[in-house]
Amino acid sequence: MSRIYNFSAGPSMLPLEVLEIAAKEMTDYKGTGMSVMEMSHRSPVYEGIIKETEENFRKLMNIPENYKVLFLQGGASTQFAAVPLNLMKTGKADYIVSGQFSKKAFKDAQKYGDAKCIASSEDRTFAYIPEITPDMVRPDADYVHICYNNTIYGTKFPEIPNVGERVLVADMSSCITSEPVDVSKFGVIYAGAQKNMAPAGLTVVIVREDLLGYARPETPTMLDYKIMADNGSMYNTPPCYTIYVAGLVYKWALSLGGLEKMKERNEKKAALLYDYLDGSSLFKATADKKYRSMMNVCFVTGDAELDKKFCKEAEENGMVNLKGHRSVGGMRASIYNAMPYEGVEKLVSFMKKFEAENK
Ligand SMILES: *Cc1c(COP(=O)(O)O)cnc(C)c1O
Repeated sequence: MSRIYNFSAGPSMLPLEVLEIAAKEMTDYKGTGMSVMEMSHRSPVYEGIIKETEENFRKLMNIPENYKVLFLQGGASTQFAAVPLNLMKTGKADYIVSGQFSKKAFKDAQKYGDAKCIASSEDRTFAYIPEITPDMVRPDADYVHICYNNTIYGTKFPEIPNVGERVLVADMSSCITSEPVDVSKFGVIYAGAQKNMAPAGLTVVIVREDLLGYARPETPTMLDYKIMADNGSMYNTPPCYTIYVAGLVYKWALSLGGLEKMKERNEKKAALLYDYLDGSSLFKATADKKYRSMMNVCFVTGDAELDKKFCKEAEENGMVNLKGHRSVGGMRASIYNAMPYEGVEKLVSFMKKFEAENK
């Protein structure tokens, strides 16, 4: 078996231990004589799987009792519409635009009501997170939307922004379960699972119960949080197999010590890479120091041809998907929970060698 270090931003690496359990259970899940892929989602065995997955997710994220967990489809991008449809009670919402995904979310919200961009960092290609103070938020906004970790630009909110009494909604697709987060500070948290939790096909939504039941009348049934919550995410067929793998990933994270431990591991990996970048005379990290992401590390040489050469040689050395997002170029190393420390060590030592050879 040969595994390589995959720095993809998503879909991305899964823990080897998880893949091995999934492989072992592939054709016969615990003596049922069938794969989880082949099971009715209404069967008692599958009901057990989804229930346990939710329990472990709640435990891992320390989700308070008054929040529902929804296992949905459509990717994080579908939530760009689902959020305004469910939460725009009076028709006003404020958006912080800190990258491409939050810009897309803002655009979708404008279709449904008075969405306002109250802060943006587009002036410097989203290399930082704009400062937010409660007075910037409209007092009658139904919610404030942020993207907590900007996957493409490698930035992250240094802390949960203070939006006063307003409901805070966060896209956490690329940082969920990377460190502990105080769920009670948010009205809604959503995340596509394919970055840090599971294969593609699953979107997790955590929603405070008192926000349910206000969906606009034209809301498609499939996007109505209350209907999904009332039906235990089983109004229709859920992404069964992906939920099962997410469950294995949650168990894996819990077995390693939960999110405190994940944070420790992730900080160590990110520090190794950023410390090298800060001392390098060839590579430069692109995000402002204060807002650096632990999950997506973006860097450049300043020479597009050299960037290309770097990605090519890295690939020849067993490190793949280091090319930056097509909209920004350069390099991006996504080092989610499943990336072992050894993978980052190998990357840094390769970068040192490349730097010496290309001075
Ligand atoms: C990947 C990503 C998305 C888009 O997710 P899809 O599941 O492809 O719709 C949205 N927001 C963030 C922060 C992401 O990283």
